[in-house]
Amino acid sequence: MTEGPIVILTGAGISAESGLGTFRDADGLWTKYRLEDVATPEGYAKDPALVLDFYNARRENCVGASPNAAHSALARLERARGDVLLVTQNIDDLHERAGCTDVVHMHGEIMAALCARCGNRRPWEGRMCLTDVCPECGMDGRNRPDVVWFGEMPYHLDRIYSAVTNCGLFVAIGTSGSVYPAAGFVSEAAAAGAETLEINLEPSETASRFDRQIYGPATETVPAWVDQLVGG
Ligand code: NAD
Repeated sequence: MTEGPIVILTGAGISAESGLGTFRDADGLWTKYRLEDVATPEGYAKDPALVLDFYNARRENCVGASPNAAHSALARLERARGDVLLVTQNIDDLHERAGCTDVVHMHGEIMAALCARCGNRRPWEGRMCLTDVCPECGMDGRNRPDVVWFGEMPYHLDRIYSAVTNCGLFVAIGTSGSVYPAAGFVSEAAAAGAETLEINLEPSETASRFDRQIYGPATETVPAWVDQLVGG
């Protein structure tokens, strides 16, 4: 058993085998859309309908996808140990649907809406459109997915930094290490004395900062790693 709490950071790679596209792989979403157009406050101000359509498609894909063996293994790990914090950059809800009960969504959630006028947040299913009326302020035209865009502040950073700098083991799974501040967590954890492990399909941009690396598809590597920690 690893000594001390475990912090796990997941990225798009853990959901890739559930059929949800990653962003930066060769056939990733950024080869089909311009990041500036669909994932920035400026893009939403310029063409909100395009942005809502982009996320309507992401939501539809998410609803149609199922958690895979890697999501299930992390839920098993959470049940077996009381000291695991799961932080995800993913906006999908596959960790929750696999049975994880405490998931920190630092980049928000596709199954939630945010009123860009008054800040009201609420669960959201189905398509989002500009005529949706906010139940809090009564205004339309400002509904958006509750996701963190480039240039916006990620959620829950105080809780995450506190956990990252007080853990015994920091593990990054299926993330390219190209989006900060998440890409910097490994250095923060290591500086505070934690062991660090990267689990990814291939070496990420920050691979050399980790003490150990395991490479291969998440549906194989993650269950095998969890078996090692808590038994099969
Ligand atoms: P990324 O696309 O930059 O990197 C994905 C990483 O996963 C790559 O290093 C790739 O080698 C690895 N990978 C691909 N298939 C894998 C597999 N089967 N098993 C293990 N690893 C695999 O994604 P990121 O690092 O999460 O980028 C951050 C941004 O992408 C975040 O802002 C996040 O919100 C967003 N995003 C989320 C989703 C989602 O919610 N499912 C999907 C796409 C992007």
